[in-house]
Amino acid sequence: MSISDHIKDIKNELSQDIILIAVSKTRSVSEMQEAYECGIRDFGENKVQELITKYDKLPNIRWHFIGNLQKNKVKYLVDKVYLIHSLDSIRLLKEIEKQYKKKDKIAQVLIEINIGEETSKGGIILSELQELINAVEICSNVKVKGLMAIIPKGSEEECRYYFKSMKSIWDRLSNESYKNIEMKYLSMGMTNDYKLAIEEGANTIRIGEGIFGKRIYRRE
Ligand SMILES: *Cc1c(COP(=O)(O)O)cnc(C)c1O
Repeated sequence: MSISDHIKDIKNELSQDIILIAVSKTRSVSEMQEAYECGIRDFGENKVQELITKYDKLPNIRWHFIGNLQKNKVKYLVDKVYLIHSLDSIRLLKEIEKQYKKKDKIAQVLIEINIGEETSKGGIILSELQELINAVEICSNVKVKGLMAIIPKGSEEECRYYFKSMKSIWDRLSNESYKNIEMKYLSMGMTNDYKLAIEEGANTIRIGEGIFGKRIYRRE
């Protein structure tokens, strides 16, 4: 099946209010163009350099930065990405605030939560969330627009458990009125589990292989 077949199949079963992000890491610009022609406008990248290289070649796109973000690379994303999905520390928050302030821009970010508390993964652990929220409240150039998670691999039951946990945090924060924090996006669900994620409350899903086919990582 082609990229456009995949997209049509996925879109057919998605309701209008779900944002579909095509995760285009490792994919060529022409593969991305094929997705663009099927109406995809949201693309996700996990490497700053790769995003910047593609940025100039593809206009009219909403770029999502979904990878682990190193502090020294924040400056390259200013005014280029619609949403940074991976805010997970106060140190990173301070750098985003600093770089966006310099250029008089506002950063829209999601707080990434390491909901499975896996050491191999990014995201903030729950016990540190409140401290991060307090730090966001005193920012002037950062707006939190929701939450993101990459859940641990597991059975359907386990996946649902983590998605539900995320939804309940998102609901709880939706009922608070913290400065600079609004719960608009709940970004969770990838190729293998996006249907479960939507059933449990995701409104933003990130699909790579389900659109572009299996990724092949070349050695550099
Ligand atoms: C690669 C990636 C995805 C997409 O994963 P697939 O299994 O290819 O759908 C989603 N989110 C993040 C953060 C990723 O790095």
